[in-house]
Amino acid sequence: MFCAGNVYSLLKRAGTFLKSKGLSEPESDAEVLLSFVLQTKRSKLPLMRSQKLTDIQVSQYEEYILRRSKREPAAYITGLAGFMDFEFKVNKSVLIPRPETEILVETALKFAKKENKNSVLDLCTGSGCIAVSLAKLGKFKDIMASDISGSALEVAKENAQINRVLNINFVKSDVFGEISGRNFDIIVSNPPYVSHEEYDALEPELKYEPEIALTAEDIGLFFYKRIAGEAGRYLKDNGFILIELNAYKAGEIKQIFSTGDYENIEIIKDYAGLPRILKAENRC
Ligand code: GLN
Repeated sequence: MFCAGNVYSLLKRAGTFLKSKGLSEPESDAEVLLSFVLQTKRSKLPLMRSQKLTDIQVSQYEEYILRRSKREPAAYITGLAGFMDFEFKVNKSVLIPRPETEILVETALKFAKKENKNSVLDLCTGSGCIAVSLAKLGKFKDIMASDISGSALEVAKENAQINRVLNINFVKSDVFGEISGRNFDIIVSNPPYVSHEEYDALEPELKYEPEIALTAEDIGLFFYKRIAGEAGRYLKDNGFILIELNAYKAGEIKQIFSTGDYENIEIIKDYAGLPRILKAENRC
């Protein structure tokens, strides 16, 4: 597909190719994948415009560009994703961390600091990006992270190691199933919440992600109902839950928590102005 060339010409050819395949940010993809091949920072590429690639590097780049043209997310090709200024390992066992989830971490940190909260449970941790970021940026003494998927937990544990976090207790658990006898100041969660109907309409990139981490029965409300039904028992008296919202079902989700044992329920918007987090305090 590509013949030998320098950084400048390969970026140009890859960008044109990805554009012809209908990708929305072809230049960005071309740069991310080339910097991965060259094991350098993307910001260094403009300084390397005339550097020649070896034949091996060209064929590697070709393979990655071809995979991306088939809509495989760049994060699965590089095995890396950024979240809250940290780097996380990802593979097809875990969702790729989303920028809109950062507000969940920021909100948890804000209230933890203000109210001196010490313990936190991250339910459905996936790659571990929420729990690891909280461990890096907060002053929690007790952090637990759970997931039903053993292979996701392996990734999460590796991410704790990569980011030099030693104090997360990882537990394999279907929602609260194995978290018995514990209660926390804060529960955070980004559960699966895409309805099957919404899933069918998603971009091809999302079909590479684990369906179990994205979709939920009951028009996407299944985990909100389960979590709302049980979280109160795992919260301390003045504890609260922060849960990521399906932005299109914020009203229904608020209703689910309103009929449970919670008070002061509020919805926090993300930077795009969409309802993204629900905060509900334990009614005691
Ligand atoms: N925010 C994700 C998306 O729209 C969904 C994440 C989830 O299901 N928790 O793809």
